[in-house]
Amino acid sequence: MLSMPAIEHNLKRIKQAISDSCKQSGRPNATLLAVSKKHPADAILQAYNAGQLAFGENYADEAIEKIAGLPNDISWHFIGPIQSNKTRIIAENFQWVHSIDRLKIIKRLNEQRPESLAPLQCLIQVNISNEPQKAGASIDQIGKLATAIDQAPNLELRGLMAIPKACQSTELLAENFRSMKVLLQKLKQHHQQCDTLSMGMSKDYQLAIEHGANIVRIGTDIFGQRD
Ligand SMILES: *Cc1c(COP(=O)(O)O)cnc(C)c1O
Repeated sequence: MLSMPAIEHNLKRIKQAISDSCKQSGRPNATLLAVSKKHPADAILQAYNAGQLAFGENYADEAIEKIAGLPNDISWHFIGPIQSNKTRIIAENFQWVHSIDRLKIIKRLNEQRPESLAPLQCLIQVNISNEPQKAGASIDQIGKLATAIDQAPNLELRGLMAIPKACQSTELLAENFRSMKVLLQKLKQHHQQCDTLSMGMSKDYQLAIEHGANIVRIGTDIFGQRD
């Protein structure tokens, strides 16, 4: 695990880079989501003590153990593939979910979201590079999923998320990011509240911001390599 000074230093450096990229593209500042999967609660606490409040987790069982022992003003974002037998953990413990890609998950999350909590903030994950086996809805499914989320009283649709194919040329990657921006604009025509585009990770967040990302999800550059 990286030391407190190392994590604090990384956070500072990345926040500066995010802010620089946003200024260069003439846009309001993007949100940094610190992806803490496979890192211990202690590492999260160090980032929290350095001022970081939003964290992303991929595995429901791993997340719930960490969430239980950490400060309750942390905002938790579920960003991994969603198995239907894990929806209750997500509905009861997270503020955001980025990886919605099918109707069954929408129905379950809505039924399981406690009424005492604010609506779960939802992003539809798009399989933007059209990879077989990869999580995410195809482009032609977005409308149907968006309508279903809108009709679910315990869910609130906020936008789209993507994980473009790794190892593409910068040009192809930029093309994927641009397509996502266009898809969000289209979505907004029928769902005005949509304001969020979650894309960009340690290796490509600056390019993602250039093309419209306003949440970037960064793990390795903050916490170091995962085992
Ligand atoms: C792991 C992960 C990240 C962070 O990736 P890094 O390369 O470590 O920054 C971002 N988004 C998702 C969906 C992830 O699974």
